[in-house]
Amino acid sequence: MATNKKITRVEGSGKTASQATWKPTEENKSKATRNRVIAAILWVLAVVAQLIAIRHIIQVVPIKMWFVIVLIVVDLALAIVGSILWKKSNRLDPPSEKNKFLFFLQSQLGLFTAIIAFLPLVIVIFTNKNLDGKQKGILGGIAIAALVAAGLVGTDFNPPSVEQYTQDSNYVKELMGSDYVYWTKSGSKYHLYQDCQHLKGDRTTEIFEGGSVSDAYANNSRIKPTLESLCKTCENRAAKEKGWSPEDLEKAKEKAAAIGGEVVSDVVPEEVQLPAEETITE
Ligand SMILES: [Zn+2]
Repeated sequence: MATNKKITRVEGSGKTASQATWKPTEENKSKATRNRVIAAILWVLAVVAQLIAIRHIIQVVPIKMWFVIVLIVVDLALAIVGSILWKKSNRLDPPSEKNKFLFFLQSQLGLFTAIIAFLPLVIVIFTNKNLDGKQKGILGGIAIAALVAAGLVGTDFNPPSVEQYTQDSNYVKELMGSDYVYWTKSGSKYHLYQDCQHLKGDRTTEIFEGGSVSDAYANNSRIKPTLESLCKTCENRAAKEKGWSPEDLEKAKEKAAAIGGEVVSDVVPEEVQLPAEETITE
């Protein structure tokens, strides 16, 4: 460990490993696929529930209010469970940001599904001539509330991406030499040190888990997939142990970001080659 103190910039740590783009494990990939298939089935059933409600409103006079309300609730439950599974699948096996449109589509599919699963019904309720004003108010209000609820659950406000996973995993490798972090089930941060005060603190009875950064993202939905989720205390401790200045820390972060993006081949090689031998001393 004494040799670490001489190193001010360990550019080469994990040279070959950190250049690779992050990939999900086979196990997580198949879990993600299973979640996506189930989500798709639930979404189809949600749309079916909506179609039955629409058919009832159009064909039956007078309509059974309770029947339509039950169908809206069923529609909502199916849409929400589908969206939760879909977001979970993206945490396990995130899309790439290289194609912005596909990234947006895959990340926010739950939102689009919410629109498909409720908007036609809302339109039918407000335009149908068989419904009186009171019925339109009640059913329309419930359907709009369901649309908003399903839309909010379906929207991923912190969508994960392959690039983000690559960057965050590489940054942890730069700091610690390997991509291994700790987190608790209820916490929203991941930690580099098992004995971090924030892990010990008031949660001594809580079981905490260890694994790669991507495991943390996949297993705890409270942890946002971004470097901001890395515990600052742990980050500073790692920097201190390496003898890094705040500038060195920033450089390591930029390097990890560059590898995560498309600029790998232009930026990284000349930076990496110089102090690569220093990794051997660790
Ligand atoms: Zn910590």
